[in-house]
Amino acid sequence: MNIAKKAFLQLFEKEPKKDLSISYSGKFRDYNANVKYTSHSMHFNLSKKWEEISDEIQIGLIQHLLNRVHKKKNKTLNIELYESFMKNISDYAEVSHVNPVLEESFERMNEKHFLGMLDMPNLKWGRNSFHKLGCYDYGSNTITISTVLEEDQLLLDFVMFHEMIHKKLKFKSSGSRTHYHTKEFREKEKEYGVPDIEEKLEKFLRKKKREEFFKVKKKKKTKRSLIDWFFD
Ligand SMILES: [Zn+2]
Repeated sequence: MNIAKKAFLQLFEKEPKKDLSISYSGKFRDYNANVKYTSHSMHFNLSKKWEEISDEIQIGLIQHLLNRVHKKKNKTLNIELYESFMKNISDYAEVSHVNPVLEESFERMNEKHFLGMLDMPNLKWGRNSFHKLGCYDYGSNTITISTVLEEDQLLLDFVMFHEMIHKKLKFKSSGSRTHYHTKEFREKEKEYGVPDIEEKLEKFLRKKKREEFFKVKKKKKTKRSLIDWFFD
C-alpha cells in the first residue's frame, strides 16, 4: 500500500474512492508540496527533499493536504509530527548566504529586540519589488528583502524586524489553517517603537512608485497600473 492511501485510511477511517498516488519532484523548492485531483484520482506531488524524510512525517503532510482538500480539521498523531517537523527544520538549514548590508540590519535588530539571541538565517536581497517587501522561508531558513528598501535604514530595519519575528515565533496551527500574524506577533512588532512606521513605509513606497512610474512612462510612453503592496 502506498503511503498516500495509508494516510487517507488513517485520517478518514474508510477506503478512498479515488486512486491515490505520490511522486517526488525537483521542481519544488525546499519542503513544498501540492495535490492535484480529478473526479477519479488524487496525486500528491512532493519536493525531492521529502524523499529522505520518514514515512510517518510524510503521512502527516499528506493528511494535512487531504484535510485542506476535504475542508476537514481532523487531527492525527502524524499531523502533529508533521507540524513540529515544519517548525523545526529551519533550525537545521544550512546558513551559507549572508549579505553584509542585511547582516548589519539583522544585528541591529537582534541586539535591540532579541537580546542578541536569534540565530542568523540566510540573508538575501530579493527582486526590486513593491509587492513583496520581505519574506521568511522556514524550509531554507532565509530572510529575503526587496531591494526597494536598500536606501532607507529605518524601513529596512522594520521589515527585517518583521521577518525576524516570523523566524522567532514560527506559526500556530488550528485545524487545517496556519496563522502567522497572531496577536503575539503584532504585540512584538509594536516594540519597534516608531508608532507611524506603517504610514512612513506607505509614503516611501508611494514616492518610489511615482518615480518608477515616470521613469517607465518616459521610456515606453505607456501607462502602467500601480500595484498595491503588502507584507508576505
Ligand atoms: Zn509577515
